[in-house]
Amino acid sequence: MKVILLGPPGAGKGTIAKALMQHDGSVQISTGDILRAAITAGTTLGKQVEAAMAAGNLVTDELIMDIMEQRLQEEDCQQGYLLDGFPRTIPQAEALKALLAKLGEKLDCVLELDIPRDVIIDRLTTRRTCNNCGEIYNVKSKPPRVEDVCDVCGSEIMQRDDETEEAIENRLQIYNQQTAPLVDFYRNDGLLVSVPSSDIEPVMQAIRQRI
Ligand code: AMP
Repeated sequence: MKVILLGPPGAGKGTIAKALMQHDGSVQISTGDILRAAITAGTTLGKQVEAAMAAGNLVTDELIMDIMEQRLQEEDCQQGYLLDGFPRTIPQAEALKALLAKLGEKLDCVLELDIPRDVIIDRLTTRRTCNNCGEIYNVKSKPPRVEDVCDVCGSEIMQRDDETEEAIENRLQIYNQQTAPLVDFYRNDGLLVSVPSSDIEPVMQAIRQRI
């Protein structure tokens, strides 16, 4: 399937993407993960985006489109993809539309995870991420077996720079200003499916009805 996962930071896009991936072999493409990997590897791209990301600001549309134009043409996208964190602005959505038309591809749907703001803030402030493999934990609902140590690879787990309260406020404000307009954009295109939950069952049900 070819699906965009739309929703504010902390809505559960990554979790849903991972569950859907197991379902039919589509790949999860997270622009945030791609950028964080570039920062960890110390590449030119990583250096370019580091400061903006730590503050919770968006990186430029041009940079994101350069990344996605290449990524969507890689072999593993043939089976389908779940776009997690992209597009995030109207110009990105327009550019994606043009790119898909050029590649002769069509989206199945845009899944909006419509989650209340207090749930999101609680999730983000309690979320922890492995420095090395990216595994996600939550100090309340999914703590690691040993405090601050990743169950998967044994590296240190940490709070992301952009998950401080100040950065979260900024990210939510940016979401409302720049990303929320995509809901109407995709509703007008007849692609929007809204689910008021990030539990896998209701999401799967909404997708089954749609595809
Ligand atoms: P995420 O992991 O999706 O929450 O993304 C983390 C950060 O990466 C965002 O706060 C932005 O700084 C950057 N980022 C990820 N995806 C995009 C995008 N599509 N457009 C602009 N910036 C992005």
